[in-house]
Amino acid sequence: MEKETLIQLDKRYIWHPFTQMKIWLSEDPTIFIEGKECFLKDIDGKWYIDGVSSLWVNIHGHRRKEIDEALKSQIEKLAHSTLLGACNEPSIFLAKKLAEILSQSMPWDAPITKIFYSDNGSTAVEIALKIAYQYWVNQGIKSKDTFISLKYGYHGDTIGAVSVGGIELFHELYKPLLNKSIKAPAPYCYRCELKLSYPSCQLACLAEMENIIEKNIDKAIAVIVEPIVQCAGGIIVWPEGYLKGLRELCNKYNILLIADEVATGFGRTGKMFACEHEEVTPDIICLSKGITNGYMPLAVTGVNEKIFNAFLGEIEERKTFYHGHSYTGNPLACAAAIANLEIFEKEKTIEKLAPKIEVLKNKLLEIAQLPYVGDVRQKGMIAGIEIVKDKKTKEPFPYSEQTGWKIVKAARRHGVWLRPLGDVIVIMPPLVISEENLERLLEVIKDCIIGLNYASS
Ligand code: PLP
Repeated sequence: MEKETLIQLDKRYIWHPFTQMKIWLSEDPTIFIEGKECFLKDIDGKWYIDGVSSLWVNIHGHRRKEIDEALKSQIEKLAHSTLLGACNEPSIFLAKKLAEILSQSMPWDAPITKIFYSDNGSTAVEIALKIAYQYWVNQGIKSKDTFISLKYGYHGDTIGAVSVGGIELFHELYKPLLNKSIKAPAPYCYRCELKLSYPSCQLACLAEMENIIEKNIDKAIAVIVEPIVQCAGGIIVWPEGYLKGLRELCNKYNILLIADEVATGFGRTGKMFACEHEEVTPDIICLSKGITNGYMPLAVTGVNEKIFNAFLGEIEERKTFYHGHSYTGNPLACAAAIANLEIFEKEKTIEKLAPKIEVLKNKLLEIAQLPYVGDVRQKGMIAGIEIVKDKKTKEPFPYSEQTGWKIVKAARRHGVWLRPLGDVIVIMPPLVISEENLERLLEVIKDCIIGLNYASS
């Protein structure tokens, strides 16, 4: 179909996510028609480096033969059956594989061994919240009705997930609809709410978290966090020791720790799971995005045996977890995930990251020197560049200027596909990106930030 017709149809029928449709309707959108390795091709034949992994999902590149084949072979057997009262092969094999990977990667506390499937990051979080709440109720503890989470946190867009979110722009409006949650200060060193600096602060934000837990212990169900990197909040990389300290607090006060690794999981931070950086095992983990390499919607909420066992009982005890989705454990999605996990093993994806992480680090050091660059943050293959109007005072550009978008649009013209988070330029390419392409990606970003400099002066 002609490009113009497709655009007309898109504008006529589609309401795009996180998009001011008035602006969308006045612009010419990009239509992608092909993907290969870390590149995307648009309908005009122009190729782009996929600098944000198609919204943080792509790990091993587009059109991976192994995943294509796994899907074709599964589709010839069974596309879907339900997990409500029945099983299917791929969901069993995947659960075994995930439980092994999770327990081997995070052996420091009770390992994650039970897998509950759903189909996106937000549902993985909803399930984690419901399981955590019911875990206490099933033991006769009914006073616990509040979650503790972090400012700048993002856990998805469904109501439960929004309740524990802490991004004003996305979450404030829905306040009247939300469940009970208390927000602790984020370990966001560049804009420390407590006006301190690391390490002399001695993690005062963690002490603040302890105050909150202690004061609310009777009603606190769990702490839910994105461990090590709060991605959607602006690629906020935590100072060393915060996660470990948080695990210790949860142990001390006997509340659950939920790790939302929807964005950080599957190698993004340089380890399979971000929790590994501080030798932490959460009680509940949420995974999605990278799990199928972007092929199929799939998510997992993993729990340890202690939690699982609290749901066992006679039917009349009402300890059952009454939750499930039509597509829970979809065989196609599970087959794609198995093939994706096999590539991790076969290609030693994570072991090969070190030189790329170094390239990213060195280039970010250069970028940090540029005017308007307030802060650069990196953990493994995730990075964020915070653009500010005034480097000294950290004053941001007015929201109405959409400075992040100006840089991103310029990068797109130069063949790099990005999407900003406000004025934070996000870098999260597929893990298999070559060092050469990674350098090119970063060069383009650098030039576009410099270009902004000229445009504004
Ligand atoms: N949790 C985290 C940490 C995320 O970054 C996201 C999405 O960006 C979600 C949950 C929600 O995932 P989904 O968009 O698949 O619902």
